[in-house]
Amino acid sequence: MNLSDQLSLTAKDNLSKTAYVFNGEETNYQTLEGSVTKFASSLQELGYQKGDHIALVVGNTPHFIIGLYGALRLGLTVIPVNPIYTADEIGYIINNGDVKGIITLDVLMEKFEQMDSMLSNVQHYIVGETKPDYDVNQSSLSEKAYSFTKLVHAGSLELDRPTLNDDDTAVILYTSGTTGKPKGAMLTHKNIYSNAKDVGEYLKIGAEDRVIAALPMFHVFCLTVALNAPLLSGATVLIVPKFSPEAVFQITKQFNASVFAGVPTMYNYLLQYPNEDEKDFSSIRLCISGGASMPVALLEKFEQHFDVRVSEGYGLSEASPVTCFNPLDRPRKAGSIGTDILNVENKVVNENGNELPRGDVGELAVRGPNVMKGYYKLPEETNASIKDGWLYTGDMAYQDEEGYFFIVDRKKDLILVGGYNVYPREVEEVLYSHDKISEVAVIGVPDPDLGEAVIAFVVATDSSVIEEELYKLAQDKLAKYKVPKEIRFLDELPKNTTGKILRRSLKEQLAPNQ
Ligand code: AMP
Repeated sequence: MNLSDQLSLTAKDNLSKTAYVFNGEETNYQTLEGSVTKFASSLQELGYQKGDHIALVVGNTPHFIIGLYGALRLGLTVIPVNPIYTADEIGYIINNGDVKGIITLDVLMEKFEQMDSMLSNVQHYIVGETKPDYDVNQSSLSEKAYSFTKLVHAGSLELDRPTLNDDDTAVILYTSGTTGKPKGAMLTHKNIYSNAKDVGEYLKIGAEDRVIAALPMFHVFCLTVALNAPLLSGATVLIVPKFSPEAVFQITKQFNASVFAGVPTMYNYLLQYPNEDEKDFSSIRLCISGGASMPVALLEKFEQHFDVRVSEGYGLSEASPVTCFNPLDRPRKAGSIGTDILNVENKVVNENGNELPRGDVGELAVRGPNVMKGYYKLPEETNASIKDGWLYTGDMAYQDEEGYFFIVDRKKDLILVGGYNVYPREVEEVLYSHDKISEVAVIGVPDPDLGEAVIAFVVATDSSVIEEELYKLAQDKLAKYKVPKEIRFLDELPKNTTGKILRRSLKEQLAPNQ
């Protein structure tokens, strides 16, 4: 089974049900299924065939869904790209990924008009219209540019579907990486289908659900949890073009949303939102958090304020992405990423790859149908991260007696203070427990005496918070070597488009040349 065929089956059972809502307009499964087939047939007319690579450089609009499923239906490999990347970043992925065509939006065409000469293999731009008066013929790339809407309209419902094999590459996700260029994680049809299905079943996402897609669609968290899983079960996807608390509360109210998926910073923004009258999550049965560790204090405050359950999970691009989630039929544990999802195994190992006893901290390794085939054109990197079928995640974790996993931190974020290990997360959790602190990030910086020193960056909701209070809190709760040497106040912490806090950019601010 694969995503594209499963969508056809789901559509057959749910023809008149709403598949997605965009700008208040509902589109049913019959229309979506038809658009997907017609788009695929138009791509075929343009000369695309199984195995070709196509990039999806669009924001949160229906073009993403139709483009993704249409390309998969024809057996193409889809490369989703963050639309706000710079020309250099996009150019690297398009060229490295051997992309033949780009699906994008009118509002992004200017960028491609300027960089087209860098993109040696690109033959077509398929342009989704977001403005009523946009005309691809006016683009300086008009010879290569096609209207997305026209291709959907002109397509045929009679498509000769190619056979899609489990092991064919369906999607390549370029992961940001902390050093060097991003690497393309090749996910097969089996990888992405199995993860969407297993996550959907584990979180009991069903046809009656209305799932908010406010995370960026190019990111695998949104792709699997808020798009593929709901679309495979006949649920409705509520598209939020750009995250804001107003937009989330408004769509929740208007369409009785039942599931929200977000990264911790989004939960923070929702909780801090000042307009109490609009802050209503009473129709939501489940909040899903992932992508970064959810501070325990935030989780508890959020659950209390909105009277809703927040279930944290964990994943990474290389695992399509989900490996663990807090189960719905057992208690959720604050601070934990939960237990193995269906069909996936997680274990904690030492440097030699041997499994550690419960309670011991080591690297998290994962095995299952969701684990990528490898990095595109990088066999050495693939062999370094997948050994004996286990994917080494680069995240440090431990498992408790009841089988719940806890992420301690990323291996590479470990701070060594005078030879002692300090995991930023532990310090962050303590500072976060102060009721006037809304964001925290802790990093290590070079220190002449101790090797590294701990520095904390905090955002306070109230300017009356004084440093001494925070030092006192840290001193009361943490061993001396973990107490920050310095606490800096900022108005906001740097985040990527997914909302993850960028510790790396804080490091660069302190020591730009390192
Ligand atoms: P990406 O490939 O962009 O999805 O990033 C994956 C990384 O995000 C993982 O390797 C983790 O470091 C981090 N991550 C994802 N979920 C969690 C979580 N619940 N707790 C802590 N870190 C997480």
